[in-house]
Amino acid sequence: MADIIQLLPDHVANQIAAGEVVQRPASVVKELMENAIDAEATLVKLIIKEAGKTLIQVVDNGVGMSETDARLSFERHATSKIRQAEDLFSLNTKGFRGEALASIAAIAHVEMTTRPENRDVATQIKIEGSKVNSQEIVAAPKGTAIAVKNLFYNIPARRNFLKSNQVELRHIIDEFQRVALAHPNIAFNMYHNGAELFNLPVSNHRQRIVGIFGPKTNEKLVPVDEETDLVTITGFVGKPDFAKKSRGEQFFFVNDRFIKSPYLNHAINNAFDGLLKDKVHPSYFLYLSVNPKSIDINIHPTKTEIKFDDEHALYAILRSAVKHSLGQFNVAPVLDFDRDATMDTPYSYQEKKPSNPSISVDANFNPFAETVEKNPSVKKHTYRKADTASWESLYVGVESKSVGIPIDFNEIELESDEVTGSLFEQKTKEDQSTTYQLHNKYLVSKIKSGMLIIDQNRAHQRVLYEKLLEQMTLKGGISQQLLFPLSLDFSTADVALIASVKENLENTGFIFSKMEGDTVEITGIPFNITESQVRLIIDQLLSDFQNEVPDAIFSQVDLMAKSIAKSTAIKTGMSLSVTEQESLVNDLFACKEPTLAPDNRPAFITISMDELERKFL
Ligand code: ADP
Ligand code: MG
Repeated sequence: MADIIQLLPDHVANQIAAGEVVQRPASVVKELMENAIDAEATLVKLIIKEAGKTLIQVVDNGVGMSETDARLSFERHATSKIRQAEDLFSLNTKGFRGEALASIAAIAHVEMTTRPENRDVATQIKIEGSKVNSQEIVAAPKGTAIAVKNLFYNIPARRNFLKSNQVELRHIIDEFQRVALAHPNIAFNMYHNGAELFNLPVSNHRQRIVGIFGPKTNEKLVPVDEETDLVTITGFVGKPDFAKKSRGEQFFFVNDRFIKSPYLNHAINNAFDGLLKDKVHPSYFLYLSVNPKSIDINIHPTKTEIKFDDEHALYAILRSAVKHSLGQFNVAPVLDFDRDATMDTPYSYQEKKPSNPSISVDANFNPFAETVEKNPSVKKHTYRKADTASWESLYVGVESKSVGIPIDFNEIELESDEVTGSLFEQKTKEDQSTTYQLHNKYLVSKIKSGMLIIDQNRAHQRVLYEKLLEQMTLKGGISQQLLFPLSLDFSTADVALIASVKENLENTGFIFSKMEGDTVEITGIPFNITESQVRLIIDQLLSDFQNEVPDAIFSQVDLMAKSIAKSTAIKTGMSLSVTEQESLVNDLFACKEPTLAPDNRPAFITISMDELERKFL
């Protein structure tokens, strides 16, 4: 039989390798930025167009490359960073596999200009799909500039697989932030479609964190410092009262490399034990330095896991260091850091004057009275009647309708309504209502076949969600003009995110007058929300975007509608007037999908007469 095994041509092998190294534009950003850092740059610029789909450019002022090195750098396994296997155990560069540039050049149009300090001229190489098209001598400053254009131009399947620009940009920003946070001693700039997203001068760790996450972050940071034989830990944890619903601000760096470690994350959570509310995550920016020999860094380029020799000890040290900091900085739980909505005055009562509570005592109540024992189904009713009668007896001669009227079913039905209502005021007309609010949480209503129990919060979310979806697609939101513009501060990345969904927000009624740097200025808001809700709505939106990155325009609109509906819906704990209850029920049943809240949990349940009757068996 003839030999059948052949060596793959280089460009094919490179394309296969590229599949591993380059998954999306953000992978290229990571590799190029890491190369710039390995080249000892003190200034790194990242320039992106269309979320990296058309251009990713990294410009550094590092050591540059000679003509030969420039050419060699695109070969597979060409690296200046290790020479022998042992070097792997004392690694202090980001790269070492010599695969990144070869992989990138296999699947994009790449142009590199590079000049080392000791040469007068620079080398410029143009390469497409692993094929060198030109190599020239040009004038250029010291350092390296690499432009990667039309990523995946020769692998349409991969190109089509890319997510929306908003999603890809989010990934790029994540990579940029990780690298920038790890190296505060290097200045970084990032531009997207010509707009500057980040401008980070050389600084320290604290300033770098603030530079990225916004000026408000500063007061939230609690320093952590610990030095042991095994590890040196520096950095910050966020105060518990600033913990977020999203995991967005959790960073571990080991020897200046961003890593993910569920195990060490657990150590932090453990240190925060008892200080956090449910479902929030502490933020942290922790820098661990360990002996390079004690970790296995031979990880895959796109992976961020790492293996430590002594993970258990590390866990314990980290936990106690964080605990110590939280204790030392007197970060005790703050009782009132997030108001419990159930404690708020129900809005229908906010305007009302307080009235003295009334206590009614049934002077005639006799537990041994025959009526009570004989007829338990009207027990309560009977003794309330007696009560009324006894008061009325004080005003002899005043006409009383209630005395002597036979007890009928309707009155029994309404009894509990009056008991709750009487805490504040007598409801008169409302007694005829078709709905009844139970524990400020459910609306109970009679239907032909039995009863309907509606969750007021979920029902309102459904109503708002459908309305918002319609507004965003048909652009029908009505605005109310604010008297004074509302200026809100966010991190630059968050402002970029808000900018990317600006149009959708405008469709719901928001009017933005400014959106730059870390400030958003708002001059109009949707008519059905209040000014004080704006911050909450946007924060919720940002957190939802971080937790669940939408991957298409449709799901972006959907996510926004869900998020805004969630933050503006009637909450559990709000008391609703009968008119409000009725309009909510009507609105719900005018919805396309009244049965479910936007998160697919039931908005109401029904209990049939049959079911009820069975319970009485
Ligand atoms: P690795 O980083 O794993 O060595 P790369 O493919 O990323 O592999 O880069 C190959 C080589 O090209 C590097 O080892 C380095 O010598 C050189 N190089 C890449 N980018 C730069 C840069 N920005 N400045 C100077 N040298 C660079
Ligand atoms: Mg590299």
